[in-house]
Amino acid sequence: MPSADRCPFCDYLAGLHPVTILEQGEQVAILVTRWQRGQGHVLVIPVAHRPTIMDVAPAEEQQLMNAVRRAARAIAAAYDPGGIAVWQNNGVPAHQTVPHVHFHVAGTLADGGTRSGEVPRLNLDETDRIAKRLSPHL
Ligand SMILES: [Zn+2]
Repeated sequence: MPSADRCPFCDYLAGLHPVTILEQGEQVAILVTRWQRGQGHVLVIPVAHRPTIMDVAPAEEQQLMNAVRRAARAIAAAYDPGGIAVWQNNGVPAHQTVPHVHFHVAGTLADGGTRSGEVPRLNLDETDRIAKRLSPHL
């Protein structure tokens, strides 16, 4: 399992690196990822550093799932995709790349599914535009 006291997501929330934050609460935040694999692709994370889903605190569980569901509804309302994909990986063998538990939520693409492999890295103006489109629906 990956482990780190600090990580890119913690640095984003601490304001050390720029990122588009769609929503930030006391326990859960929703970020717009710069690597869009579907329509309105966001990451739902606990504010506290939790490496994997096994490390999530009981009090965070409901908040995380609530945010995943609200993100899915916002994506559906903003993009009207054919489907909504939710995925979550734990451990390097499962292709977890950032050691801070995160739920991907994305609308499916016009031709179905989500994009795997290399995707272009969006700039902050582009992720801000995605947030602006989603935020009225949260
Ligand atoms: Zn972290």
